[in-house]
Amino acid sequence: MTEVNIDWHDRAKKLNIDGRALIDGERVNAQDGTTFACFSPIDGRKLADVAHSKAADVNTAVAVARAAFQDRRWAGLSPRDRKEAMVRFADLVLAHQAELALLETLDMGKPISASLSMDVASAANTLRWFGEAIDKIYDEIAPTAEHTLAMITREPVGVVAAIVPWNYPILMACWKIAPALAAGNSVILKPSEKSPLSALRLGDLALLAGIPKGVLNVVPGFGAEAGTPLAMHMDVDCIAFTGSTEVGKKIQIMAGQSNLKRAWCELGGKSPNIIFADCNVDEAVASSVASIFYNQGESCNAPSRLLVERTIKDAFIKKLLTHLPRYQPGNPLDTTTTMGAIVDNRQMDNILKYIQSGLTEGATLLAGGVRVLGKTGGFYISPTVFDHVTNDMKIAAEEIFGPVLSIITFDTEEEAVEIANDTPYGLAAAIWTQNLSRAHLLAKALRAGMVYINSYDEDDITVPFGGYQQSGNGRDKSLHALDKYTELKTTWIKLKP
Ligand code: NAD
Repeated sequence: MTEVNIDWHDRAKKLNIDGRALIDGERVNAQDGTTFACFSPIDGRKLADVAHSKAADVNTAVAVARAAFQDRRWAGLSPRDRKEAMVRFADLVLAHQAELALLETLDMGKPISASLSMDVASAANTLRWFGEAIDKIYDEIAPTAEHTLAMITREPVGVVAAIVPWNYPILMACWKIAPALAAGNSVILKPSEKSPLSALRLGDLALLAGIPKGVLNVVPGFGAEAGTPLAMHMDVDCIAFTGSTEVGKKIQIMAGQSNLKRAWCELGGKSPNIIFADCNVDEAVASSVASIFYNQGESCNAPSRLLVERTIKDAFIKKLLTHLPRYQPGNPLDTTTTMGAIVDNRQMDNILKYIQSGLTEGATLLAGGVRVLGKTGGFYISPTVFDHVTNDMKIAAEEIFGPVLSIITFDTEEEAVEIANDTPYGLAAAIWTQNLSRAHLLAKALRAGMVYINSYDEDDITVPFGGYQQSGNGRDKSLHALDKYTELKTTWIKLKP
């Protein structure tokens, strides 16, 4: 359990960060000795020099992971033994909850209260859940003819490369490594260059938990230099990617250009949140605001398009604006802060460009729209709300990945569905209504991997997470995630009559 009353500012000053890669159970420098500086978006301070991994480091990590897989030091353990190691891993993550949460907050700017209670706690739960699951899953015998026996079994795919983004660094890492490890694979984890720190500590804790060396390797580095060699590698069997649609498309191409490795992509979104006049308005307002501004709007499933029925729009907006003071950015190390810093200067500038495009295209800025707390040296944007948005404007069509809400008006159910589905994405969607038939019919009509009715962002490890269309393929979480990291084998046995 985490101690209470931690002085996070003080704790941050005393942190000792090891930025070296983790390969074959050892913390190592990049082979060419280079590092890159890791800065905090809270105030621009340098946190650590991190190993600048490139193709040579990736090649070593893949060779090590392959050797670990071949000698079956992990894949050959009984599911029960793997379970026990995974559960110890989860326990260790919880035992280091404060340290990991602090690293996460310093590295990418989210509020410390969220890092503690959501990110690190959910990461531990993910490791525990897949560990607990793996010795409770049975293979199949097919109903074939009498003198045959056909066994359908699952085997680990082998060497898995996990490439993850910066918005939920430790959690996205665990959504990949937990099912991959539980199934018996060896893994190379490449965290985002913007948030490499918690992944490196995760690697240390896996070793401490008794997961054999070489089974989980962590190579921090940039996309083109460390991610591409993984995606192109002839000896990586599966790539599990979470990130932008733009890079996801490249990952699919690289998989095809190399060894046709399985390429699972969890990508971006532009999710609609549809508000009907008959809904519980107070609940809908509170949820709409909380879910777009959570994590500074840097969530793949953020409900960034708010579709409101015309008859209640003015009243709805009036209420919505009263919630904004609660989401003004603050220092992420203060426990009362609900919205923290944007991950870096570049992302902040991108968001500000989108805000400018909203103004240029004729949307009405109702709140925010500016950088704040600039004197801190950090990157903060006030919660931003646009009205009179049409679905063809850039702020409605493209993923902004920041605290920007676009309000679109509709008159009929048909129009709401048409606008909601008019997107290349399909990650999530929500419907707010008291009409049960309408809720069910619209849930079927919406092209999205996750539909919420009278809520947003319900979360449980037992349910799949992922999208339709250009939001990706495959699913994280739930037992379905194991499909990505296992091969199906059929073994036919001819029985003597
Ligand atoms: P990104 O695509 O820029 O980077 C993601 C990862 O890919 C990073 O580790 C990066 O270093 C690596 N990468 C970049 N270029 C690469 C290349 N050419 N080859 C190989 N690897 C490369 O995304 P980001 O900015 O880190 O994350 C934000 C995106 O992630 C958003 O689009 C968001 O919607 C998406 N996301 C999706 C989910 C989901 O489950 N669907 C969850 C979280 C985030």
